Amino acid sequence: MGKNGTATIVKHTGSHYLLSELPNWNLFPAVVRGRIRLKGSTSTNPIAVGDIVDYSTDDEDTMASIDIIHPRRNYIIRRSTNLSRESHIIAANLDCVYLIVTMQFPETKLPFVDRFLVTCEAYGIPVVIVVNKCDLHDEYSQALLKEFKEIYADQAGYKIIEVSAIKGEGIEELCEEFKGKISLFSGVSGVGKSSLIKAIDPQLEYIRTGEISLAHLQGKHTTTFYEMHPIATGGFIIDTPGIRSFGLVDFEKEELSTYFPEMLSVMDDCYFKPCTHTHEPHCAVKQAVEEGTIAPERYNSYLGMLEDQTKYR
Ligand code: GDP
Ligand code: ZN
Repeated sequence: MGKNGTATIVKHTGSHYLLSELPNWNLFPAVVRGRIRLKGSTSTNPIAVGDIVDYSTDDEDTMASIDIIHPRRNYIIRRSTNLSRESHIIAANLDCVYLIVTMQFPETKLPFVDRFLVTCEAYGIPVVIVVNKCDLHDEYSQALLKEFKEIYADQAGYKIIEVSAIKGEGIEELCEEFKGKISLFSGVSGVGKSSLIKAIDPQLEYIRTGEISLAHLQGKHTTTFYEMHPIATGGFIIDTPGIRSFGLVDFEKEELSTYFPEMLSVMDDCYFKPCTHTHEPHCAVKQAVEEGTIAPERYNSYLGMLEDQTKYR
């Protein structure tokens, strides 16, 4: 007799998928034998890491068959090119995205942070900001951090965790965060993503370098695909190499401000509805910017994204 069950995709190798019955880590390979389609999907790889699937096996089968994909709670896509409508799903069913930033070395650009946050909001995925290299903080970076926290924690309402991968500070809190969740880890190169992953669980670094890749299951090791790893202290992590390639999702002009939590909370008071918070009189968002409860930096990012959106349509 064959076996049926439900499992999560933890890796896509190109020729097949690796599944695990989370929260257990009991990897087994599976392929798509028939044609599975998610209704309405234009994506080039309809199954992604994080997808929950029903599978079945026959007696003679060495590999399970993926039969059904469960509806996704959320997913992150990457555009193939800037203008192309073709997209590629990076991961599905995420519980949280962690954006790693540094105040200095490198100094984080706020418009980049804003684009990233808007993308997560649009996908409906909670995001936590991790400030790394806190051991390097001097007076100047302390001042930057104070302003950063005012904008992103006090005004926009994001959770911020301060850590040092090198000194091990804040790592316990981070591990506590990960428990029971599937988390996506992201940040531009140089912020200490690899160092943090190593601090969270030294075993993870080992896996990332591919030395104990699942050679008996997958043949040649490929690094271009996204992959989920178990964390020793609990939870699962997906590491994304190139966050820059996150395409900003399609949105309506009127929608954009709803992805800025501090704008969303006041826009009910705008005189015009919908309001783009640009030229309209009696705009609550513009008033909040004048009063200082919405940061001018955030408002400028908003205007920049609004302009891009008009350009690419
Ligand atoms: P990645 O490109 O984001 O993976 O960054 P790495 O983990 O390779 O780190 C980039 C550089 O920053 C390396 O020289 C690390 O030693 C250093 N680094 C990473 N985390 C910290 C930290 O918490 N404090 C300090 N002072 N340096 C760090
Ligand atoms: Zn308005």
